[in-house]
Amino acid sequence: MGESIKEVRISRELLEYILDVARDFYPNEFAGFLREENGVFEEVLIAPAGHFGSSSVFFNTWMLPHDETIKGTVHSHPVPVATPSEADLSFFSKFGGVHLIVYWPFDEDSVVAYSSSGERLRIVVVD
Ligand SMILES: [Zn+2]
Repeated sequence: MGESIKEVRISRELLEYILDVARDFYPNEFAGFLREENGVFEEVLIAPAGHFGSSSVFFNTWMLPHDETIKGTVHSHPVPVATPSEADLSFFSKFGGVHLIVYWPFDEDSVVAYSSSGERLRIVVVD
């Protein structure tokens, strides 16, 4: 799908799980890697706790498992801010793929998706 992707498909079960995890981590941020199967994000690998402070999420490429099904990332904003930070945008462009941000108060609508170039993508929740 590459850079032309305009839409992100995610299972409802995974989205609800991610929102639960974000609430559990609050007031800290969490971050994870998203695994895709048949064009739908189905699973999240939570990045090790302790690497993330309350002000910034810090990904290192050495943390990334060797896994071809990883097609994106997710992280939480413990504030009602859906827009990516400068650091987020820099990370997105290096990582490629698609990137979800879930933000306080972590309800069903508190999720946005961006391409690696920072373009807002439509989220399709798959039952
Ligand atoms: Zn962020």
